[in-house]
Amino acid sequence: KHIPESKIIEELRSKYDTINFTKTTKFSDLPLSRITLKGLVENNYIDMTDIQRQSIGLALQGNDILGAAKTGSGKTLAFLIPVLEILYCKQWTRLDGVGALIITPTRELAYQIYETLRKVGRYHDVSAGLIIGGKDLKFERKRMDQCNVVICTPGRLLQHMDENPLFDCVNMQILVLDEADRCLDMGFEKTMNCIIANLPPKRQTLLFSATQTKSVKDLARLSLKDPLYVSVHEYS
Ligand code: ADP
Ligand code: MG
Repeated sequence: KHIPESKIIEELRSKYDTINFTKTTKFSDLPLSRITLKGLVENNYIDMTDIQRQSIGLALQGNDILGAAKTGSGKTLAFLIPVLEILYCKQWTRLDGVGALIITPTRELAYQIYETLRKVGRYHDVSAGLIIGGKDLKFERKRMDQCNVVICTPGRLLQHMDENPLFDCVNMQILVLDEADRCLDMGFEKTMNCIIANLPPKRQTLLFSATQTKSVKDLARLSLKDPLYVSVHEYS
């Protein structure tokens, strides 16, 4: 029997409020779409890491998150899964434009996120693109118009925003600030502030950082709304 997509989505969403955070250890314990779970399993992502366990459910519930976890703790999936699920539940299509913006400090990190998204998001309809320079602005802009998930470095993104006053992020649902402390360390503080000032205020924001310095807290204050603080402690 064919069940309409909207019915499936409604059912998934109805489970968000009852996520039992102490009992969810596997991705399959979460109310995730079948296509996300398939992408995860095929890449051998079965058990969640601590930061994933603590933040994915809260992100699905619509919260802004300030996440603290060191390098290698699995932050990429902690934000990519909510990004995929949120756009899926909104039945995002290519025509809806940029639905998610992911800002990361370096090109290399942007590539890594892109690769993970391509693998895990394989069965999703949304398109993804990199805005990291290396190609001329016009080329990137053209491509950006067709991207639903844009992964970018701060300097290059601001360049696009400056160049085009009608910068097309009006539909954006979710903003991810990855490695926020490193972005700030690299001198992108002003750039980040400008970017955030240019984005639609009605959005969900996930901010991840290995350390919680004063400047990270300032950025958090500027970009997050009633954030939930998620921190993964190391016991050694
Ligand atoms: P971070 O961004 O916190 O530095 P990454 O997201 O890059 O960490 O993940 C670090 C490594 O751990 C990657 O090789 C990734 O494939 C792997 N990884 C992430 N989550 C899981 C998981 N749930 N199960 C197995 N491996 C994982
Ligand atoms: Mg990372």
